[in-house]
Amino acid sequence: SMLLIGRLEQFASFISGLFFQTQSLRDFFSVLDHRPGIEDRPNATALLRVRGEVVFEQVSFGYDPVQPALHELSFRAAPGSTIALVGPTGAGKSTALSLLYRAYDASAGRVMIDGHDVRDVTLESLRQNIGVVFQDPGMFYRSILDNLRVGKPDADLAEIEAAVAAAEAAAFIARKPEGLETLVAERGRSLSGGERQRLAIARAMLKDAPILILDEATSALDNATEARIQRALDRLTEGRTTFVIAHRLSTVRHADLILVLDQGRLVEQGRFDELIRQGGLFTRLAEQGKFVADAEAGLASSSLEG
Ligand code: ADP
Repeated sequence: SMLLIGRLEQFASFISGLFFQTQSLRDFFSVLDHRPGIEDRPNATALLRVRGEVVFEQVSFGYDPVQPALHELSFRAAPGSTIALVGPTGAGKSTALSLLYRAYDASAGRVMIDGHDVRDVTLESLRQNIGVVFQDPGMFYRSILDNLRVGKPDADLAEIEAAVAAAEAAAFIARKPEGLETLVAERGRSLSGGERQRLAIARAMLKDAPILILDEATSALDNATEARIQRALDRLTEGRTTFVIAHRLSTVRHADLILVLDQGRLVEQGRFDELIRQGGLFTRLAEQGKFVADAEAGLASSSLEG
C-alpha cells in the first residue's frame, strides 16, 4: 500500500501539473532538496534585512569526506561590493556559494552574514536575504506575470512594471500577443535565452534581496541584447553584495574583489590590476582567453563565438 500511495502521489502531482493553476510557484530555494542536517536549530533566530557583509572563516567542505571540495576558504566581502569567483571547472566556485544559502553546511569553519553564523538563523530568513540569477533560470508553464511574481508573491502591478522596466524587459513583453498575460511555454521554451535572463533579473529586482548570486552566461548573445542585459544587471547589483561566477572580462575588471579558486583552494585574491601584476593563475586564465571579451572591451565581434 505504500507503493500505491506513492503512485497516487505521483498521479496527483501529474494532474496538478496539467491543471497548472494549482501548481504552487516556488523560487529557486524551495526546490532545494531537504538535505539531512540542513534545518533550523531549535533556537534559530530570524535574520532581519542585512547590510550584506559576508565573511568566510577557514571554511572547509567535502561532498565526500576523503576529497574536500573546499579547503580553508577565507575572505571578506564588504556590504554592497561585487565579488567575482573565477577558476577552472570543478575549482569549488558553486560549492562555496551553496554554503552561503545553506544547500550544505561547512564541515569546518564558518560562514557569516553581518556577523551571524548562517547556521544560527532560520533558513527562510536567510534565503529571503539572498537573490539568485542563474544561467538557465527556471520558468513555469504560467503567464509571464506569474513567473515574475515568484520574486514577490504580493507584488502589485506598479512594482512589476518598475522591475520589468529596470530589467530591460518592457519592450519584448509588449511585443508578446498578450503582454504580461502571455503564457510561457513549458520550461520557458517560448522565450529566447536573453528574454529568460531578463525575466530572471526582473524577478530578482522584485525580491530585492541585499545579497545576490549570479551565474554569468557563457553563451554568446547578440551585441544589442548583451548590452541590455548588462545594463539590467548593473541596475540589479547596485547597492547589493553580489557574488558572480564570472566569465566576462568586464566583470572581472570591475569587481571589487576577485577570488581565484583552484582545486578547492583560494590561490589568489585581489582586484584585476593586482592579480595581473602577480602573474599567477588569474593571469594565465586571462591569457588563455578564459574570459569572454564584450562590447565594453571593444572586442565583441572578434572574440564572441557564433
Ligand atoms: P565549480 O563551480 O568551480 O565548477 P563545483 O563547486 O561545482 O566547481 O565543484 C567542486 C568539486 O565538487 C568538483 O570536484 C565537483 O565534481 C564536486 N561536486 C560538485 N557538486 C557536487 C555534488 N552535488 N556531489 C558530489 N560532488 C560534487
